[in-house]
Amino acid sequence: LTNNIIFADNAGTTRVSEQVLRSMLPFFGEVYGNPSSLHPKGFEASAALDAARAKIAQLLGATPREIFFTGSGTEAINWAIKGTAYAARKSDPEKNHIISTEFEHHATINSLKALERDGFEITLVKPSADGIISPERVAAALRPTTALVSVMAVNNEIGTIQPISELSAITRPRKIPFFTDAVQAAGNIPINVNDWDVDMLAISGHKIHAPKGIGVLYIRRGTKVRNFIDGGGQESGRRGGTENLPYIAGLATALEIATAKLCDLDRVRTLRERIIDELLRLPNTRLNGSRSGRVAGNANLSFYGAEGESLLLDLAAAGICVSTGSACAAQDLAASHVLLSIGVPVEWAHCSLRISLTHENTEEEADKIIAAVTKAVNRIRAISTL
Ligand code: PLP
Repeated sequence: LTNNIIFADNAGTTRVSEQVLRSMLPFFGEVYGNPSSLHPKGFEASAALDAARAKIAQLLGATPREIFFTGSGTEAINWAIKGTAYAARKSDPEKNHIISTEFEHHATINSLKALERDGFEITLVKPSADGIISPERVAAALRPTTALVSVMAVNNEIGTIQPISELSAITRPRKIPFFTDAVQAAGNIPINVNDWDVDMLAISGHKIHAPKGIGVLYIRRGTKVRNFIDGGGQESGRRGGTENLPYIAGLATALEIATAKLCDLDRVRTLRERIIDELLRLPNTRLNGSRSGRVAGNANLSFYGAEGESLLLDLAAAGICVSTGSACAAQDLAASHVLLSIGVPVEWAHCSLRISLTHENTEEEADKIIAAVTKAVNRIRAISTL
């Protein structure tokens, strides 16, 4: 079965590429040292760790000392948000307010809920109907007690790109730390921590053809963030645990390839546009989120009367992998908080599909997706009570 699969759920996860896998293999074999050990095997591992950190720093516009490896994008987000909130409140007990948005990933939303239970006040800014966060709305939410502003760079469900440098221009003069979840930005748009002028930024390996279970948190020098995991002094004493060198090496290779391929996203965009054009021919169909302000590979559509979960099952039976929103929420039948936040009516929000493409998808696959979605929508609508 897996040979005939069309994988169009690349915002959910991606296949580890051959080149990434090859770059990881030495670290499962001969280069097995612990980077902290003071002997030749340790020195060899430590040099590889330094090289990966330096490469990632260079690709993001950071310095190696500002790059911290984590066990996932979720961990990097938890660290940035909770670490900054507690550090701010410790230095000034009045600093208890955080601004974020209604359509963040659950790693952010649930980190903020945990802080709320611990006395922090949270303001979630509403995106526009196009799925963009307006700098004016963020500015209007500021308080003298604001300790952090956190806005994702690219939304994971609708793929919309946020005006990060305009947002950080609001916080910078006020000396409020700014964090961006760039998990969906990596490989889709250029990322540079100085162009964006952010204080913290998170990325995750498995969205860019590296393995699951590896992430990076960039922390700008001088940003006050509490240490995250107590342990043996790894990651400058801020995140304990022996480094996952194979995955770290894989992430460095993946980010290098993803950055080099940014200039060829036009082919992916052309496939995506064809899918959107063809599927919008179906009556009572809408595209969710701005058409032009989204990453190249994302199409998120709602087909009134055809429930997302039913569509997924029909498409799965045809060997096509897509999603109805974020993979993490796929078990949860509540309507997508992202679609509701941009004002998609609840009955339309339940009828959504996210098709997310990468360089690996072909024209032939796009045609098969169009045909299979059309067939599934027509079949389900014919028996729907909506
Ligand atoms: N942030 C966004 C925008 C995501 O899309 C994801 C993954 O779904 C995450 C964070 C979480 O990353 P990870 O799966 O590495 O924990």
